[in-house]
Amino acid sequence: VAAQGDGAARDQLARAEKLRALGEMAGGIVHDLNQNLNLIVGHAQIALRGLADQAGEGTAPVELRELLGIIAQSAIEGAEKLKRLQAYAKPADGEPPERFELGDLMRETAQLTSPRWKDMPQAQGRPIRLRLEIEGDTAVIGRPVSVREALTNLIFNAVDAMPEGGVLRLVVRRQDGHVVVEIADSGTGMTPEVRARLFEPFFTTKGAGGTGLGLVNVFGAVEQHDGRIEVDTALGQGTTFRLLLPAAPYLASTAPPRTLTDGPAAGRVRRAAEVAPRRAERPQRILVVDDEPRMCRMVLRMLQPGGHEVVEAYSAEDALEHLKARNFDQVISDLGLGPGMNGWELAERVRDEHPRTRFVLATGWGGSIDAERARAFNVAAIVGKPYSIDALLAAMGDE
Ligand code: ADP
Ligand code: MG
Repeated sequence: VAAQGDGAARDQLARAEKLRALGEMAGGIVHDLNQNLNLIVGHAQIALRGLADQAGEGTAPVELRELLGIIAQSAIEGAEKLKRLQAYAKPADGEPPERFELGDLMRETAQLTSPRWKDMPQAQGRPIRLRLEIEGDTAVIGRPVSVREALTNLIFNAVDAMPEGGVLRLVVRRQDGHVVVEIADSGTGMTPEVRARLFEPFFTTKGAGGTGLGLVNVFGAVEQHDGRIEVDTALGQGTTFRLLLPAAPYLASTAPPRTLTDGPAAGRVRRAAEVAPRRAERPQRILVVDDEPRMCRMVLRMLQPGGHEVVEAYSAEDALEHLKARNFDQVISDLGLGPGMNGWELAERVRDEHPRTRFVLATGWGGSIDAERARAFNVAAIVGKPYSIDALLAAMGDE
């Protein structure tokens, strides 16, 4: 790397800092939106159940039921999209490698990045045409989160290289024990000087608009998967980045490999419309803790028809007062609880002072919850926001 002045180094640090702050901010927004989506899902389902109760399944206005069903379903689907966004911020190293279809991941990433290669360029009058070519068995073993991030960076670079529009070609195919991925653009291409410095940290030709970290990240992800990168570029004609990752061995069993859109969430979406009221095996006394009163009230409305007694607390301190005064079967608590103690601290106190009370953590932070910590604090179940009535009951062990 050529020697750089202090000023340049400081600028680069400032940019990295800005990036990190941006990531954190995005995480916070995801969390807050999950809270809003939960209020939508929950209340739509409560209203649906109310309709069914009042009129009987058969005579409730079909139209109204349908509309409420769509509201709940849309909020749940929105949460699925948020989850994908959240995955970007999650450190990939902590997860064990898994088998996944790179073709599926590419398809998903293409869709996820479409605002950048489709909507924006179109609005700017430089349309980009997408050609997606996915062939055969494209299973690899690794970390989909980090590969997705790499694909995203390469797609963004390809778009940046086509200021006049052009063709973005995304290819995934199996070849000689490898899964080959190509991200090809018909853009500016690179000079030999740029080509030589491509993978240097902080090397960018985009001025303040660039970070020079995209390809560093790509390189790291490919290394992590024991793969390699090839770059073909011709000035004025375009560039192709080619990643070669070791293909996963063919599966002997006929079980279809897990795909990213086929997780437990898919079941949740299907179940969203089912809102039959249910009776609890045994009515329980539940303490619901959330600094958002509407959320507490929603849980109350969800659980009361099942015969449960629900008490609301808007802070951990408040919750401890209630716990001291009476016995509770379960505590359902949010993680962030405003200025005082948080949900973890409350879990710890409940573990130590009320060991017979079951503790359920409800959170909009989704996958970033530390499972080790949850075990240590005797958290019996974690339910992700937004949750349906069924998901809440399942977390309470009532299913
Ligand atoms: P950034 O995109 O923030 O500049 P990257 O590490 O992603 O950082 O890319 C570094 C540089 O490599 C870019 O600034 C650009 O000059 C060059 N580059 C990367 N991909 C392409 C491409 N597809 N076509 C032309 N140049 C590219
Ligand atoms: Mg980039």
